[in-house]
Amino acid sequence: MNDLNSHELLKHLSKQLKARKVNQQITLMEVCGTHTMAIHRSGLNQMLPDNLRLVSGPGCPVCVTGVSYIDTAIDMAKQHGVTLTTFGDMMRVPGSKENLSEIRSQGHAVEVVYSPLGALELAEKNKDKNIVFLAVGFETTTPTIAATVSLAKEKNIKNFYVLPAHKLVMPALEALISDPNLGLNGFILPGHVSTILGSKPYEFIATKHNMACVITGFEAADVIQGIHMLIDQIETGDPKIEIQYKRVAHEEGNAKARALVDEIYEPCDALWRGFGSIPMSGLKLRPAFEAFDALKAFPVTVNDEVENTGCECGAVLQGKIIPPDCALYGQVCTPEYPIGPCMVSSEGTCAAYYKYRTS
Ligand code: SF4
Repeated sequence: MNDLNSHELLKHLSKQLKARKVNQQITLMEVCGTHTMAIHRSGLNQMLPDNLRLVSGPGCPVCVTGVSYIDTAIDMAKQHGVTLTTFGDMMRVPGSKENLSEIRSQGHAVEVVYSPLGALELAEKNKDKNIVFLAVGFETTTPTIAATVSLAKEKNIKNFYVLPAHKLVMPALEALISDPNLGLNGFILPGHVSTILGSKPYEFIATKHNMACVITGFEAADVIQGIHMLIDQIETGDPKIEIQYKRVAHEEGNAKARALVDEIYEPCDALWRGFGSIPMSGLKLRPAFEAFDALKAFPVTVNDEVENTGCECGAVLQGKIIPPDCALYGQVCTPEYPIGPCMVSSEGTCAAYYKYRTS
């Protein structure tokens, strides 16, 4: 892949893509935030053939997490004195009034960890503190969190909790497909999530909805190949699930990881920024693991309806607009002063557009 990424080869592949004749108007959605970043970093968004449009989807876990989740975590720290632990991306995501970084500067305990295991270690070393891990992520992240909860139970650790905001990709895809206004023809499917899910769960998208799908890797050359495969499917009228990212993703996925998640968690309705509540699109701890549920141990009540004023992340995450369509983009909202999570997260669509803008 290093050879494939050499500057000259990438230039050649990009030119080939740009020159491809596309015989009908095609809109593809890249579902994953890592794809969005790869596309903008490599300038691929400037090298698309005529008639082809790319829109971004809800694949950034931080971005789809609702304002009320941040508010819940903040209230938990303020009202119950818990120590919040989180991946760094969450620190500057705006809640309705403030973010985690701001409450830390007010003296509340917020620690950045690099894995859920880091949060568990903190709990083991600080028995006098209640450690709450902000469990945000898709199918790729959830197995490691499930393994950590399992380990906490095995070790009988009583001061470790998770605040679940896990999201499942499939129900979100169904929500997108059922929106006739989006006019999508195909999906560049997430490579990482698919290493867990495999390709089979996506089959209904092709068979039931006649939409093209390619599970695609994250190098620019992967994305270019994935786009060619999608155009081929659409132009030959043969929608199916193909795997471009064969070096990592396979038809069966990772059954062991799925079984581990299934042991700890069960599906539940979940709130997505922009989408509202999507049935069975999240995960909650099974009754046997409820002792680790932060919301049960440290209850708080927040407003579920609240959104960041003027921010159109919800529409960006559904592919209804692109970031420059938002009136705040680049003027009021920048990575230094973000109004919404799509400008904060390292996988956010607004951040990708802003960081790699050409004018
Ligand atoms: S530019 Fe800022 S305010 Fe607008 S949608 Fe993106 S994150 Fe929200």
